[in-house]
Amino acid sequence: MQKEKVKIEYKYKLCPVCSFFCNLNEQDKFCSFCGSQLIEACPECGEAIANPYAKFCKYCGKNYPGRNTKGNLE
Ligand SMILES: [Zn+2]
Ligand SMILES: [Zn+2]
Repeated sequence: MQKEKVKIEYKYKLCPVCSFFCNLNEQDKFCSFCGSQLIEACPECGEAIANPYAKFCKYCGKNYPGRNTKGNLE
């Protein structure tokens, strides 16, 4: 018997303003909390967001909008 390798990839939409996120399969287009338009992919390179808690794109290293780390030097 051969085991099928099913790779389930979860992808997310993020709110660029608050910390809201939802599954990419959801119909949500706008944040339920602040009304901002959700981002479905990295604005820099267009890769999907695989981790809803990620602050940086793992493909290009760009900081996701609204995901700035606290204590950043300005
Ligand atoms: Zn929001
Ligand atoms: Zn990216």
